Amino acid sequence: MVKPRFQRNLLRAPAAVPLTILLLLGALGTSNPGGGVPPAGPGAPSPSPAPLAGKVIVLDPGHGGPNPGSIGVGPTPEKDNVLAIGLYAKELLEAAGAKVVMTRSADVDPSVGTPWEGQPTGQLDARVATANNSGADVFVSIHNNYNNDPSYTGIQVYYDVNRPESAPLAQALHQALLTTLGAADRGLMDGSWLKVLRETRMPAVLLEIGFLSNPDEAYRLSTPAFRRQAAQAIYQGLLSYFRAGSG
Ligand SMILES: [Zn+2]
Repeated sequence: MVKPRFQRNLLRAPAAVPLTILLLLGALGTSNPGGGVPPAGPGAPSPSPAPLAGKVIVLDPGHGGPNPGSIGVGPTPEKDNVLAIGLYAKELLEAAGAKVVMTRSADVDPSVGTPWEGQPTGQLDARVATANNSGADVFVSIHNNYNNDPSYTGIQVYYDVNRPESAPLAQALHQALLTTLGAADRGLMDGSWLKVLRETRMPAVLLEIGFLSNPDEAYRLSTPAFRRQAAQAIYQGLLSYFRAGSG
């Protein structure tokens, strides 16, 4: 979860999207997880043995250590879910030839041992520094959402609208998450108030994958099967982003 100062849905009214289109997207999601991109991954045919060769990708599992993120109503907190998703995504991306830099690879505060340790925004500063020192092509932060209304479910994707270079990345990941997970669309949002999106120096996006306030999604996020599916969505989104030549 991130704590918004304001929220503006860049698609303005996801509720106004015709139901038939949502159903169509859902149907596509079951038959073609890539939404137009051929399925790839270990064991699957791929047009190139290493479609992401030469790409450097920062994966940023949110929170960690003493900061659990959202606790929610499920068996596992946000910090555990997003780390697992990130580590699965790392495997898929590396198998496709990418270099992956993790802002954390364990249940730790990423600022520990850095100049930002103990600072109020130290966790975030450390993540930004890791990204900016990595020579990365893209930055992908992974979170779970929370709402006081337990009926809320689905996917929300943030990028800084003042950094238009991040828009194609946000669009590709938003689409891949919706189709691969068959999830509700909670919007493509302005995240210009988020430090990790504002201060990173490469296209940057923050994914809110599922709501820990919803019993069904909170449970699913604790399972290896759903975590792998979310990782597959991130992988497919990055594949379509780089194949489109955006990166
Ligand atoms: Zn979070």
